[in-house]
Order: sequence, then C-alpha cells, then structure tokens
Amino acid sequence: MNFYDTINIGNEEYREDFSPIDQNCDCYTCQSYTKAYLRHLLRTDEPLFLRLASIHNLRFYHKLMEILRG
Ligand SMILES: [Zn+2]
Repeated sequence: MNFYDTINIGNEEYREDFSPIDQNCDCYTCQSYTKAYLRHLLRTDEPLFLRLASIHNLRFYHKLMEILRG
C-alpha cells in the first residue's frame, strides 16, 4: 500500500513549488499554503512552520485511522 509520500520540505526542489503539500488533503495548511512558503518558514526557523506542519500531520493520521477502521 502506497498512499502517501514523505517529503523533506527543506529541499531545494521545493523552493519555487507553489503547490500544496498534498493536493488531496483538506487540512488548513494544504488549503492555505504552498510548499515554497512552508520551506521558507522552515529555513528561517519560523515557529509557524511547526504549527502548520502539525496541522497537516495530525490530519494525515486522522485520515489513516479512518482507513484502518474501514
Ligand atoms: Zn494537509
């Protein structure tokens, strides 16, 4: 089963990537911010990055649990 990817948002390849982390995700972070912006927050040690990353990651685990429950 391969329904997700792990990405390292700090990578150079996301510097000008103006798409969301996950196009199919309905969380606040994916609805509001691009990979390029999140990368910028990470690289400038903005605390907002941790907040936005947590919102997406928690939404991901919530969806995973829904899938596992069937
Ligand atoms: Zn998301």
